[in-house]
Amino acid sequence: MDREERERAISPEAALAELQAGNRRFTEGHPTFGLQSAHRVELASAQYPFAVVLGCSDSRVPVETLFDRPAGDLFVIRLAGNFLDEYGLATLEYGIAILGARLVFVLGHSSCGALTAAVDYLESGHVAPGTIQHLVERLTPIARATRRDRGWVEAAVHENVRATVTEILSTSSIVADAVAQNKLKVVGGTYDLATGLVTPIES
Ligand SMILES: [Zn+2]
Repeated sequence: MDREERERAISPEAALAELQAGNRRFTEGHPTFGLQSAHRVELASAQYPFAVVLGCSDSRVPVETLFDRPAGDLFVIRLAGNFLDEYGLATLEYGIAILGARLVFVLGHSSCGALTAAVDYLESGHVAPGTIQHLVERLTPIARATRRDRGWVEAAVHENVRATVTEILSTSSIVADAVAQNKLKVVGGTYDLATGLVTPIES
């Protein structure tokens, strides 16, 4: 299957439905794909991932596993705090313009350490060691915008996904053109560490 065939084969809506169905299989305890080695040889010559996922580096949020997708389906960018930086954007654009992905999914998660650190920084002035503080300060405006007494971290996680979706849509002409041609959707959601469920976020 070449890239054009793949694009004809799956719509952005179908791509999103595949991820939602995979997450359902995962949470219900009967995954069907996993990381199979079955089509390793087939994949060695080319890849046609149908979705780009921008997720957190947190070890409890394994993207292919929680969406129950095999190797070759997801083009994954992982960075603590799942925000957009210049190289993440370039990677995302590669997934769309060169590989033909039809969906971008920004995936936050409950109890995210990166957003917890941003909240801590605002609350107590605690400075993280080394370059970690750069990352904390990148997320501080999100934490400031969602300031509240209870549920602050979860509100910041939610707002970070929403803001990142908006940023992707407004920053990339490759994304904007593909969305305008109904070849791409950009959506977001949060993963619950305890239930395994991905809940969509309206942006
Ligand atoms: Zn995280």
